[in-house]
Parts: sequence; structure tokens; C-alpha cells
Amino acid sequence: MFFDSHAHLDDIKFEEDRDVLIRGLLNRGVACVINPGDTIESSRAAIELAKSYPHIYAAVGIHPHNVESMLDSHIEELEQMASYEKVVAIGEIGLDYYYDNSPRDVQKRRFVDQIELASRVGLPIIVHNRDAHADTLDIIVENIDKIPGGVMHCFSGSVEMMREFLELGFYISLGGPVTFKNAKRPIEVAREVPLDRLLIETDSPYLTPHPFRGRRNDPGYVPLVAQKIAEIRGIPVEEVAMVTFQNTLNLFNIKYERDGSSMDTFVYVLGDALYINLTNRCTNRCDFCIRNENAGVGGYNLWLEREPTAQEVIDLIGDASRYSEVIFCGYGEPTIKLDELIEIAKAVKAQGGKTRINTNGQANLYHGENIAPRFEGIIDTVSISLNAPTKEEYQKLCRSEYGEDAFCGMLEFAKACREYVPNVVLSVVDILPPDKIEASKRIAEDLGVGFRVRKFVEKQDMA
Ligand code: SF4
Repeated sequence: MFFDSHAHLDDIKFEEDRDVLIRGLLNRGVACVINPGDTIESSRAAIELAKSYPHIYAAVGIHPHNVESMLDSHIEELEQMASYEKVVAIGEIGLDYYYDNSPRDVQKRRFVDQIELASRVGLPIIVHNRDAHADTLDIIVENIDKIPGGVMHCFSGSVEMMREFLELGFYISLGGPVTFKNAKRPIEVAREVPLDRLLIETDSPYLTPHPFRGRRNDPGYVPLVAQKIAEIRGIPVEEVAMVTFQNTLNLFNIKYERDGSSMDTFVYVLGDALYINLTNRCTNRCDFCIRNENAGVGGYNLWLEREPTAQEVIDLIGDASRYSEVIFCGYGEPTIKLDELIEIAKAVKAQGGKTRINTNGQANLYHGENIAPRFEGIIDTVSISLNAPTKEEYQKLCRSEYGEDAFCGMLEFAKACREYVPNVVLSVVDILPPDKIEASKRIAEDLGVGFRVRKFVEKQDMA
């Protein structure tokens, strides 16, 4: 399922078939849409759509094209609208020096006014920036303490510009232009943007993705954007769908309730062990990852529409002592969901269960600190996928976001875990040549941790 984080369904171009189109989105794989406003009237219309359809959310704001006629009283009106529970952002707001439909000094003043509004109502901002990078950045930097998060919508800048916005805590949203035949910058951005800061959108009715360019755009085309990003990054489209869905929920603080048809597998039994599937996110792109080919293991579909809460998993586990082990594994890197993992592990230990984490060992790199002390007393085994005996071979095989630093970071993590976890194991898959397996074994011995050669066919050993 996909989340279109930006579509103007209130636009006149949807006048004739809006209801049919919106009702049909679920069948096209699109579960949710955010409809931003660009005038007072369209902000009102966005709210009406959010009231009419459970899977539509609204943002309210005045687009830079329209700020010349904006009145101070409009800020009060927007503030009142923002109190409606399904208004999830202030937007779209920002600067547009390409069309210059409003004088630039007015654009800047009204951008700041609407940032201050976002600050007062505690909502993130949806930013439009066209040919106005320097001023957009300056205004955001000057007001960063007031801004409760935000997204650079339909981002068209360079990778360097993207990094400036990422450093300010912003998300980056990509739309149809990433699919265009002449696309350059969006492709570079799609390759470089950290997955946990990526959103997808259509900006409907504009910017229709290839191969439908020229037609009216609508949210049902957002899977094409995800598909292109998946191709660029060499990852499954399901992962792009899941990660961007979750990122959108996180940024806009949306509590998405699954309907009865959703079949997310948060826990599953293999043999006499219980496996926990906390996330589909991962900092690696291993060549041998089962996710490249399959939807899951043992008949379970492990792609998630959303990530579970700790309490949901605890409820599903029930009596943990029934299982030989409770294993944090799943279809992604479980330590990315560290707080949930710790809470669940505590609950399992309180029932006398045994716990194991199957991990790629990059948790300290991901969290920017040594997280191993948090395992003390609640994790019995940490099984780290060494996969290769050198940093170069590891990176070639596992394609970590951290480059060749991933290998050393993983070994440091193994060392750190040794102090807090009774059983730490490094593992390799049996497709490695025997001399590489031997070299890997020596690394484990030097670190004073266990070593295991796992069969490639043991599909449950993801990480
Ligand atoms: S095998 Fe494990 S570490 Fe590698 S990409 Fe898959 S989930 Fe991530």
C-alpha cells in the first residue's frame, strides 16, 4: 500500500469524477492521501474532502503564487481550520521565483507568517521551493527553532541542496519528475536520500509520471514513482512503499488504523521459535537478501503496510515461555526499532522467555551511540551477520548505507555487546568460499565471540 503525501484532489480538474476516483484508490494500491491547500478556499475544500473520506488528510495554507492577495485575517482563518483533527500540516507554503506570480518580498513575508502559524498550532510545514533555494533556506534557518518539522515537496534541487534540508531535519518528497526520461537531479536525489527521510507524492493533477506524462495526474499513479525509486536504489518496490508510508505517518503524526482486510504479519512461528517482524527498513542492501526475490518466508507475507507498536506485538506474543526463543528478525533490521524492541524484550523476559536479535550489527552507526548497554538483562543472544572477512568484501556483498565504515562499526558493536549479552555470535552464509569462512572464523575468535555458518536456505535468518 502507498501513501501519496501530496495531491490536490480539490482541483477543478477532478470536478467530474472526484468521488469515483477517490473511492477507487484503494484498488490501485493507494491507501492514503494528503490534500494540501493553496488558497483559503482550497484549504476549506481540503478539509471537506478529509471529512468525507477516511483515507484523505488535509493541509491548510496559501501557496506563494496566491499570497499577493492574502490578508492578515486569512492567518486567523487558517489557524481555526488547523484545529480540525485531520489537518496534519500547514501547506503548501514557500517561495516560487520561477513564475513570480506574487512579489518576492510578499512571498517571503507570508512564508514567515505561515511558519509562525505552524509553530503556534504545532504542525509540520509542506514547503514549495521553485528557483528560490537561497531564500527558502535562509528563511528556514532563521526560523528553525519554531518549525515543528517539514517536507520539501516535489524536491527538484541538487543532492547538495538536499543535504542542507536534511541537516535541518526536513524530509524530501519525490514525485513524477523522477520518472521523466530527461530526469537527472531527481534521480541523483533518489539514489542518495536516506530512506528514512523519503516521502513520495504525485502533486496531482500536475507532473504525471512516465509513461502517462501529458495526461491528468492522480494519486493512483504514485506506485510508478515508488517503482522508479526502487529501480534506482536496487531495492524492492514493497520496501519503498512501506518505508515512505511509515515516514509519512511519522512526519504528520497520523494514527493510521488498518482496516479489517490488512494482513500485516508482526509475529510468526517457525519451528518452535517465535519471530518478531518490527520493520522492513534496513541499512543494508545485501545481494543475497531474500527480500529481493520473495514476499516472505514459510508462507508468511512479511512486507508490512505499517510498523507495529510494542504493545501490539506484546499482545500477539501472549505467553512467551511457550517458545524456544523469541527472535527479533523479520523482514528488515530490527534494531532500527530499538525502543519497541527493548520494551518487547522486557515483556518476554518478565515471562521467562528467551530472546535473540538477528542483526546486521549497524545499530550503533544508525543510532549514533553505543546502544549495547540497553540489552543488559533482557537479550540472551545477539547474532550478527558478518557475511565477509574484509570491509571491502562486506561492502560489495551488503551495500551498506555507511559504506566501508559499516564493517568496522559492526565489529565494534559485537565487542560492545560482549559486555552486556551472554551469547554474541558472528555468522556467515555457506555460499562463501572455504578460505573466506576460515578468515571470518578467525575474526570471531579474535573478538572472543561465537561463530556460526548458516545455510543460505535458512531463509528465516535474514540479517
Ligand atoms: S539480509 Fe538482512 S541485513 Fe541484508 S538487506 Fe536483508 S534484512 Fe538487511
